[in-house]
Amino acid sequence: MKDIAYEELQAFEGRPAAEGGVGKDPVNEPMIRHWCEAMGDTHPAYGGAGPVAPPTMLQVWTMGGLSGHDGRSEAYDALFALLDGAGYTSVVATDCEQEYLRALRPGDEITFDAVIESVSERKTTKLGAGHFVTTRMDVRAGGRLAGTHRFRILKYAPAQRRRRPDEKRPRPVVNRDNAGFWEGVAAHRLLIQRCGGCGTLRFPWLPGCNACGSPEWDTVEAGGEGTVYSYVVMHHPPFPAFDPPYAVALVELAEGVRIISNVTGVPYDKVRIGMPVRLEFRRVDEELELPVFRAVDGGQTFEGGRASEGVRASGGAAEGGG
Ligand code: ZN
Repeated sequence: MKDIAYEELQAFEGRPAAEGGVGKDPVNEPMIRHWCEAMGDTHPAYGGAGPVAPPTMLQVWTMGGLSGHDGRSEAYDALFALLDGAGYTSVVATDCEQEYLRALRPGDEITFDAVIESVSERKTTKLGAGHFVTTRMDVRAGGRLAGTHRFRILKYAPAQRRRRPDEKRPRPVVNRDNAGFWEGVAAHRLLIQRCGGCGTLRFPWLPGCNACGSPEWDTVEAGGEGTVYSYVVMHHPPFPAFDPPYAVALVELAEGVRIISNVTGVPYDKVRIGMPVRLEFRRVDEELELPVFRAVDGGQTFEGGRASEGVRASGGAAEGGG
């Protein structure tokens, strides 16, 4: 990895990343419907008479699909070649910002251009040292700006990761939206959010209700009974705080919501769909306790026909998971 003079990188700022892009299809109702179904978004404005497209679909209308677009600019290729040549060969998308100026409707013809908005100085990150590259795409309908899509990547030289045998399990990210959940865990209570508007239970914790949009909520404590709804067996990638292979389960609680956790009390290859489990709290280290699920009776009494069906139906996906 060698240093690139920052002026050499800055020279790319303001140069086009893609020019003269044309959406492969106009904004259309089938795409809107598929998106809403995939997202579980039932907002009436997206499906009624004279529907509008969900604003967050902005990028969809610019995507090239499997056949791609050929609008990528020489400047963008040259920037990547410069970074690759200096050893910054890996890339990771870091974040995206969108701005919506007006609603898109079925029939709108989409055009777009993208510009290299900024290239950062060399930054050191946990992944490795590299440069952030921000591109801004201007999306137009009928020639009028409808929204902007700002996309940031990190082009970096992968750091050699040192493994410490005592490396700890990753810490949960606790924020204002989920602090109550972790307070519950500390008190050995698994708390489920309940919407104050419509009563729908939700998990994981969210600031608002997906069913009715209400920001009001309280909590109910899970009774602790559940069943394995699905699972995967993790083999790769290895991480020092974990000891693969191990099973990661999606547990359906008796209350109806689902939680991702570990199943304890049985070997990883004995976890099965439909297996009854019971909540317990496991101390992982001096600072961290987690809700996990213990196979009821060590899985010994689990011989049900319904569950066997589940095993056959799901075995391929589960074994191949990871
Ligand atoms: Zn609700």
